[in-house]
Amino acid sequence: MWYENNYANVGEQGLIKFVDKMTNEQTQFTHFEPYDAHMVFPCFDQPDIKATWIVATITPPEWSVISNEDIEVEHETTESAPLELSQHFPQTTLTSPSIVRIFKQSPLISTYLFAVAAGSFKIYTDHYGNVPLRLAVRNSTVSRISSLVGSIFDVTKKGMKYFEDFFDVKYPFKKYDQVFVPGMLFGGMENVTCVILSELILPGSLGTSWKFAYDTLVDVILHELCHHWFGNLVTLEWWEDLWLNEGFATFMSYYCLEKDPQFESNKLASLQFYMQKYTAYGTEERKAGHPIVMKMGKTGDTSELFDNITYNKGAAVLWQLLNIVGEKAFREGLHAYLEKHKFSNAKLKDLLNSILSAAKAHKVEIDIEYWAQQWLHTTGVNVLMAIVSIENGIVKEFIVQQDSFGGEEEYYRQHCIDIGLFYGTTGTVEIIKDVAIEATEYTLIESLTGKPAPSAILLNYNDKTYALVQLDSASIEFFKHYIHTMNDLYARYLLANYCSWMHYKGLMDYATYEIFHPYLGLL
Ligand SMILES: [Zn+2]
Repeated sequence: MWYENNYANVGEQGLIKFVDKMTNEQTQFTHFEPYDAHMVFPCFDQPDIKATWIVATITPPEWSVISNEDIEVEHETTESAPLELSQHFPQTTLTSPSIVRIFKQSPLISTYLFAVAAGSFKIYTDHYGNVPLRLAVRNSTVSRISSLVGSIFDVTKKGMKYFEDFFDVKYPFKKYDQVFVPGMLFGGMENVTCVILSELILPGSLGTSWKFAYDTLVDVILHELCHHWFGNLVTLEWWEDLWLNEGFATFMSYYCLEKDPQFESNKLASLQFYMQKYTAYGTEERKAGHPIVMKMGKTGDTSELFDNITYNKGAAVLWQLLNIVGEKAFREGLHAYLEKHKFSNAKLKDLLNSILSAAKAHKVEIDIEYWAQQWLHTTGVNVLMAIVSIENGIVKEFIVQQDSFGGEEEYYRQHCIDIGLFYGTTGTVEIIKDVAIEATEYTLIESLTGKPAPSAILLNYNDKTYALVQLDSASIEFFKHYIHTMNDLYARYLLANYCSWMHYKGLMDYATYEIFHPYLGLL
């Protein structure tokens, strides 16, 4: 079969051709997700049909080409390709000089994960155990990236170690290449062993501060790497589970930064997770949300799903699920899921069943279907408020009230939260862990009856659930004086965000909000 098509322009998908007008450098790269592989070769372009490929390319001699596998044969030609290679290009007249490359057969992968990138690249190399690592950048980008090469490899290697341990599954492919290109639509794309990254995520782009951009770069590297287990090794069967693929990689990259001691110097990057979560609250606030799981009538609807509900609310509820069943059961469930479906496809139901079995083995009670119904099939966010009655300096009743907005009115959900109780004038905090909130308007927290009356309360202290918090007036008064000395940066950041939301909703005057506003920053 002979097939040819035009290049895609920057901003489109398919085989994109970018020409740098300053240097005349040409860069070509593919971007197919969700279903643009058929722009380059005829195929059944859907995630549940996996295949292997043998790629053959002809390029100018100074170009490098990177794909899902290594090169098997490389031949520089001056007039015509040798006979054994020309069979791959029956309709092509070779211009000389050029390089013909035949790649080894690719792993078994879905069409959207196929990739080729070509151009005048400088290629840096390193390795993780016996997995070769490469980093390719345009020659004209070398001066921008050279000081970052060491840290990009360092983050990649730490991420590989973390994910191998977390999933208890070795890195499942033979190599790992990362290619920076201009004109990429997204921050990155996890094509199997040939990750394409946008030059826009390099520090020094588009007016972002260096630190913010560097943290974003670290997050994107880990996100695309995580997909090599969750998404590339085991691929979701259909696009209605796109949220699971993206939400999972989003959650895991931040979870890794938060939990892994190897990333001690990147700890603040994990605070960016809340910023992402907050964008989902904003979408719900504008009533622009949708249930995380959406029916996909036709493939063309998939592009609508790349929004912050899919990525960020999806990530938040998966983190919640880990909090509910515990990290051990969550990891064991994932390990079983990856082992059972490797190099194949699976559904949300398969993942939930694996996690449920692991939870049962750890004697954790969870009605996982009810969990999915509450969090994946509804729209909106809950607001939590503490209502506390005090008698003689002792808590008589501690009630958590729920409200809801952005979706169906009065939809209450089960939450598992930590509660911060602040005491005295120095703000000593006692954290009450894993408090269960029922799916009703009022939940009485019996375990807090009889405790000394706190000076202030911060619900959802460690941000374990997807919910906003409305502070009571006594707590606001306390935090106005105490926020300056809070040394838990995450709690301080949460508090400032809750105040920002309260001000936006007309529940806090500007003079008060002004005190909290400076702490919306990450540092
Ligand atoms: Zn992703």
